[in-house]
Amino acid sequence: MILTNYHMHTNFSDGKADPEEYVKAAIAKGFVSIGFSEHGPTKFRKHWELLPEKTGEYFAEIARLKDKYSSDIEIYCGLELDFLPGIKNNDFYEHDIDYRIGSVHYFFDEEDIYGVDCNFEEFRKTIFDYFSGDVKKMVGEFYSRVIRMVEKFRPEIIGHFDLIKINNFNRQFFDEEEAWYREEVMKVLEYISGKGTMLDVNTGGITRGYLTEPYPSAWALKEAARLKIPVTLNSDAHRPEHIDGNFSPVTRILKDAGYKEKMILKKGIWQAAEL
Ligand SMILES: [Zn+2]
Ligand SMILES: [Zn+2]
Repeated sequence: MILTNYHMHTNFSDGKADPEEYVKAAIAKGFVSIGFSEHGPTKFRKHWELLPEKTGEYFAEIARLKDKYSSDIEIYCGLELDFLPGIKNNDFYEHDIDYRIGSVHYFFDEEDIYGVDCNFEEFRKTIFDYFSGDVKKMVGEFYSRVIRMVEKFRPEIIGHFDLIKINNFNRQFFDEEEAWYREEVMKVLEYISGKGTMLDVNTGGITRGYLTEPYPSAWALKEAARLKIPVTLNSDAHRPEHIDGNFSPVTRILKDAGYKEKMILKKGIWQAAEL
């Protein structure tokens, strides 16, 4: 397998090591191409985000590493950007970077945010305080934001497509097999099909112990394969030792879903490589 990973967080946002540590780990494991994707700044200035005053330093450090290790590995600079409806200062194209991962991590009102990518208690608050207990409404709003994000910003990659399942262990809020849920997922997959937008097949939830399946779930990957939606394979690593976390079992899932290729960045161009 050609080893690549375009979803990684360092201590410029909520990761646990310097970017150079990830580069060294990637070279040691035989990676050919990697990309950093810090959480882009938002008006909320949350602890997991790259602060606006640090963006210059982040870009400079990745450029330095790109140059320093150019004979060993290709290094790219990306951002994972939050889709926040109506917020102008989160323009996906504000910075000259190699690629963008567009993600929906939370909902928000005037005061604060209501998490999706959060612990169980906060997730319950999102359902009960923000959506008045209406799980279908929450799921529908989540996926409709993914569609609106692609419509408006066309990020190269959609981050952890079905993150809404993160706290759904034991199917306590919804069942992915139910028709209404599948319809919501299919609306997005059908919308993005043919647009060139790639899915972030993300092993992070498995590696961190929340999930037994990647984002997106195996059944959704089968549908995505049928719709010929390109994929990247990423670990959403927050520490260097996780750069290839669960790549083997998830590659198996991808192949079983019908995928033969994943997309990789080579010489600055996205191209297909055998899985
Ligand atoms: Zn994310
Ligand atoms: Zn991430």
